[in-house]
Amino acid sequence: MKQKVQQKSKFKKNWAVNIKSPIIAYSGIWKKKAQEALTKLKEKILLYYPQADFSLLDKAFEFSRNAHQGQLRRSGDPYILHPIGVAEVLAEMHLDMDSIVTGLLHDTVEDTLAKIEDIEKNFGPVVAKLVDGVTKISQMSFKNTHERQSENIRKMIVAMGRDIRVILVKLADRLHNMRTLSHMPLDKQVTIAQETLDIYAPLANRLGIGWAKVELEDLSLRYSKPEIYFNLANKVSKKRKEREKYIQDVIKILQTELSREGLTDAQVLGRPKHFYSIYKKMMESNIEYEQVYDVLAFRILVDTVVQCYGALGIIHNLWKPIPGRFKDFIAMPKANNYQSLHTTVMGPDGERIEIQIRTQEMQLVAERGIAAHWKYKEGGVDKQTEEKFQWLNQLIQTHQQLKDPSEFLESLKTDLFAGDVYVFTPKGDIMEFPFGATPLDFAYAVHTNVGNKTVGAKINGKIVPLKHKLKNGDTVEIITSANQKPTKDWLKLAHTSRARSKIRAFIKSEERGRAISLGKELVEKNFKKHELNFDFYAKGESLEKLLKELSLGEINDVFVKVSYGKLSPLRLIEILAPEKLKTDTKTSEEPESFLKKVFKSATQKTKNSRSAIKIHGLDDILVRFAKCCNPIPGDPIVGFITRGRGITVHLADCPKSHDKDMERRVDVEWSLNEDAARVARIKVVCVDEPGLLKKMSETFTGLGINIHQAQVRATKDHKAISQFEVNIKNITHLNRAIKALEAIKGVISVERVKF
Ligand code: MN
Repeated sequence: MKQKVQQKSKFKKNWAVNIKSPIIAYSGIWKKKAQEALTKLKEKILLYYPQADFSLLDKAFEFSRNAHQGQLRRSGDPYILHPIGVAEVLAEMHLDMDSIVTGLLHDTVEDTLAKIEDIEKNFGPVVAKLVDGVTKISQMSFKNTHERQSENIRKMIVAMGRDIRVILVKLADRLHNMRTLSHMPLDKQVTIAQETLDIYAPLANRLGIGWAKVELEDLSLRYSKPEIYFNLANKVSKKRKEREKYIQDVIKILQTELSREGLTDAQVLGRPKHFYSIYKKMMESNIEYEQVYDVLAFRILVDTVVQCYGALGIIHNLWKPIPGRFKDFIAMPKANNYQSLHTTVMGPDGERIEIQIRTQEMQLVAERGIAAHWKYKEGGVDKQTEEKFQWLNQLIQTHQQLKDPSEFLESLKTDLFAGDVYVFTPKGDIMEFPFGATPLDFAYAVHTNVGNKTVGAKINGKIVPLKHKLKNGDTVEIITSANQKPTKDWLKLAHTSRARSKIRAFIKSEERGRAISLGKELVEKNFKKHELNFDFYAKGESLEKLLKELSLGEINDVFVKVSYGKLSPLRLIEILAPEKLKTDTKTSEEPESFLKKVFKSATQKTKNSRSAIKIHGLDDILVRFAKCCNPIPGDPIVGFITRGRGITVHLADCPKSHDKDMERRVDVEWSLNEDAARVARIKVVCVDEPGLLKKMSETFTGLGINIHQAQVRATKDHKAISQFEVNIKNITHLNRAIKALEAIKGVISVERVKF
């Protein structure tokens, strides 16, 4: 094992630190620490799985400890304590032995010299597949963090499609890393916490694992906004004595009332809500902690659904319910199968308290989610559970079609944060949509063909425009016509990723159709020029040779590439009839210059924009900046080929760029050596006072910024909104201007107008 330690430089060491001497890493005290952790893990497993056989677990422990020998965590602990910690989280989720063994092994292939074949040989194909899935998720490396993050999630979803346990191990990995985050450098703490909040907490929520979601959220808050977290923790603990008495009082009243009405077995629990949800409430309503009334949450657990509604009646009879706060998730479960009744009432001291009522079974689902249905003996989920988590499959299917990682992340976020709008089909079936969905989303959820043919919708019997937002309880009926087809405008109306990707797919296939016929024309013309007949080559062996040489799937792919200037027709002749090129003296043209030729009419125009942008391997091509998003040097950007008009540069996060065909996308970057003057739009809101406009224009002049255009309008509440179009060098220059404007007394807000 010693010789392995020397070669570890190739492994990513985000969480691990290698040390020089493996002997130190294996000293007695650490060996003991690891053994103790293993014993604790086994105890946790025995709690829910008393007949567990630990032979595979012991073997995995030895294997992992040997493989990680010589590695330390940043805390200074031997690395093995991390895989054991992950396995422990998986045991807290009550998962099967294969998952827990995977937890122990999850970093061996990625961070040590162990091979996936070793895992398969020692632990069988199932564990090997799981470890491989987890490794694949984290092994990708990408250009920038934005891309890396989205690509990881994408892999995650795809891996999840193979076996849901892969994602549960990844989730456990993140949870344990969050629990030990204090040893990371501060800047990493913030990034990792934000990523956890963006992706992993919603994922835990979507999988229905309530406790993991709560823990991830609170840990994220602690590391991303420590001042807020500790301030909150301090305030919550200050009133603890008082509050505990209050909680006991409420529980007592509830229990007495419930048993008097015959619900003697009802269990009543009470506690403060978790920090992150209090924080969210403060942010949403823009209030201080002292103004958050329903900090306390009570839960009543009963045996049957009927008893749930019974208990609700008793409570509403006892304390006055707050209108609009009652939610029935029993009749309409959330997408993650969560079921419960929620109500907020005026408690004994006139304080607002939230009460959740559910059965013991619903409680199990709320806490363990998909894992609650796990049959660890058979190692899989039953048919019924699979159906319940059908949204997962749909998510995977939709997202596998998206090629662009950032487009993928955008739509994944929409889906993970899906709200709760429930509507009915004309037959009375319930369908769930994210908040903001329109009839078009409904139509595409029914069927792609229905979506593509939609001309209108009736809601509760009345005709509404397609931009109408669906509301809870609406009955939706779609009106279709055989002559209808989707347009780009529909992308503005559709909200769900499913509908949007179906609309994009339709538009792209139409665009592709046009590109095919144009490319074909170009190829045929060029062949004719060389006295060749393309039809003669477009079949049989020569076609096969051509596709193989170009690594393309079908002849239409060739035409599309030619049409977008990414492939020269001369290259086709070079492959199919090279002798024709040698004898023909007229063709001195290099195939690579074909792209330039495509843009011939569009080159040599504006020096200014051209010099600011570098395009992989090409000079002298006209670059235009998209008007919709107006990029400024320093912004993340992407380019799209527009035939005859050169390359259009969009902001990487411009919503319009997501609607473009990926075939046309090219990598572009800002030329670093010079700053080109660009126009930026800045919006300033200030109090309506004389002299402020003068101060603002002086600020611009002071920074050497030219004002192109200015518009000012006053609002009814005595504010002035000014919009400036100014010449700016780059993003740093712009940020300096924004800072300087913000510093002016009387200015309320300053923002860049991007889209
Ligand atoms: Mn790990």
